[in-house]
Amino acid sequence: MGLQKAAYALSVHDPKELPAPGAPEIAFAGRSNAGKSSAINTLTGRRRLAFVSKTPGRTQLINFFSLGEGAFLVDLPGYGFADAPRAVREHWEMLVGEYIARRDSLAAVVVVMDARHPLMPLDRQLIGWLRDAGRSTHVLLTKADKLSRQAAQRTLAAVRKELGELCPGASAQLFSSLKNEGIEEATRTLSRLAFHKNKAPPKGE
Ligand code: GDP
Repeated sequence: MGLQKAAYALSVHDPKELPAPGAPEIAFAGRSNAGKSSAINTLTGRRRLAFVSKTPGRTQLINFFSLGEGAFLVDLPGYGFADAPRAVREHWEMLVGEYIARRDSLAAVVVVMDARHPLMPLDRQLIGWLRDAGRSTHVLLTKADKLSRQAAQRTLAAVRKELGELCPGASAQLFSSLKNEGIEEATRTLSRLAFHKNKAPPKGE
């Protein structure tokens, strides 16, 4: 799957506005500021693509990008804003909750977490929904450049261990948008998940 040809397609504010399910969708979710937009931009090679989702009025929408090869990249609204009003939090839960629970064309969800602060309470809530819905889940521990190699490896091992309990089958990797690290591993994993080529978790990852 080429992530390189991504182009903005449409935005959705209400589950009722979702387009008819078609090509497989790879959705990205994460706490605000975790590095989700940067990761999407890095993976697609488009420096400002996901910042579309950050323009005023678009932050609480599900934003679809066509990958041009029979797949969509879906940018889910960020969560965990310190000062988010209750209505915004409730809208997020409804919109993202429904999308994850019911979307027929959703192939896999990438959960982006800051490698320095993984598995915060809302990350755990989201991962619980993914487990309950039986969704293929891949965790990007991004900003790995902010940790020493040793600390990054320790974090990766700890997160994989916890994921084994929270969401069996979920995979995880280190990533850095700043250093362009982890692109190949992420692209390979997402291609596999999008097209269900091999459901077993890859050996050694
Ligand atoms: P989002 O809110 O999850 O979409 O997060 P952004 O992609 O906007 O990133 C939030 C902040 O973290 C920005 O200041 C980015 O420059 C920074 N950032 C994102 N990814 C990385 C990374 O891999 N390494 C470092 N050092 N900083 C990053």
